[in-house]
This record gives sequence, C-alpha cells and structure tokens, in this order.
Amino acid sequence: MSERRVGIMGGTFDPIHHGHLVAASEAAHLFGLDEVVFVPTGQPWQKADKKVTAAEDRYLMAVIATASNPRFRVSRVDIDRSGPTYTYDTLLDMRAELGPDTELYFITGADALAQMLTWRNADRMFELARFVGCTRPGHVLADPGLPEGRVDLVEVPALAISSTEVRDRVRAGEPVWYLVPDGIVQYINKNGLYTE
Ligand code: ATP
Ligand code: MG
Repeated sequence: MSERRVGIMGGTFDPIHHGHLVAASEAAHLFGLDEVVFVPTGQPWQKADKKVTAAEDRYLMAVIATASNPRFRVSRVDIDRSGPTYTYDTLLDMRAELGPDTELYFITGADALAQMLTWRNADRMFELARFVGCTRPGHVLADPGLPEGRVDLVEVPALAISSTEVRDRVRAGEPVWYLVPDGIVQYINKNGLYTE
C-alpha cells in the first residue's frame, strides 16, 4: 500500500470561507490526499496587534463548515497549545499524531508561502512537510527562492474571497451568503460576530 497523504491547512479562519474549502478540496484532488486537517491558530503571531475572534468560535465554525465532508476534519492542536502559533510546532504535533509513514502537505496561500523563508525554523519546516501554495488563476508568482522539490503551486478558483472581506461585509450590513457556508452565516448572526 502506498503511504498515507494528509493535507494540513493552518489558518486564523476568522471566519472560515469558501476560498479555504475550495483550496483544500483542490489540493486533495491534485495530490491524492486521504484527508485534509484544518488547524485553527491559537494566538497568531503575525496578527498579535489585531483583535482576533475567540479560538473556540473559530474552531466551531471550522467544524461546522467541514462537517459534511468525510475527508475533512479539524484539529485543536494549535488552540490547545499555549502561546503564539508557529507553523513549525503545528507540523511537529501533526507528525507526532500521524506517525512517520504519513506524508504531510501544508496548504497555504502563495502570499503566505512567499513570506515563509522569514519564519522561525523555516529550513526544518520544509523537511517536515511538502508545501502547496495556492494562487489565483492567471496570477504568476515571482520565485521567492523556496526549496526545490518541496513546494508546488496550484491555481484555485474562487480565490477572491478573504476573511477580512467577510468581516467588513458583516460590519457594513452587507450579505455574506455564498462567500461562506450557510451554517457560518447563521453562526455569525446567532453569536453577533463582527458587528463592532
Ligand atoms: P484574513 O483576511 O483575515 O487574513 P484569510 O482569508 O487570508 O483571512 P486565513 O485564515 O488568514 O484567511 O488563511 C488561512 C490560509 O488560507 C492561509 O494560508 C491563506 O493564505 C489561505 N487562504 C486564504 N484565503 C484563501 C483563498 N480565497 N483561497 C485559497 N487560500 C486562501
Ligand atoms: Mg490571510
């Protein structure tokens, strides 16, 4: 039997939206992933100065959005670890959980990928996982000097959606139907998220 392949999609998911879900689905299809694990961050260090919704709300929204897909699940490793979230720690924990016979594919936006060389333990990160950078159709990514053979770029449809836009639209009283799953529209309204 060939080795198991698991996608890891880390993010703030404030809130999770269809761009995240389409990216995960596309990566799963292209790389033959057995499952994709969504990993909401604890305190994201890149966003330390910004107000981020409670981890429990972001976690529950990820669960709601992925519940219907048998190949998607959500992990608490980052929100249960104290302190800021570093992708290196996420990958170490997932590696420990899944064992040495699983190939990890870290799925991320190409913009984030381009910054990764500046991250803590960047060199060792690329030994722990392969990386999938999601780009917009027709968008060409300047070679950021990423390690050869460990990074693939994928064009994802529906990439114009961002959590920032979803939050701004809720604040402005504009609809977010079809940018996020129905259950997320309802969760946002029920809990009064993104109103202030
Ligand atoms: P924000 O606007 O608050 O930065 P975001 O939409 O970028 O939110 P994150 O939770 O920051 O969402 O992103 C999690 C991961 O998903 C990151 O790797 C990011 O690059 C990627 N991503 C975000 N939006 C999309 C999208 N529309 N398509 C594909 N990947 C995306
Ligand atoms: Mg982002």
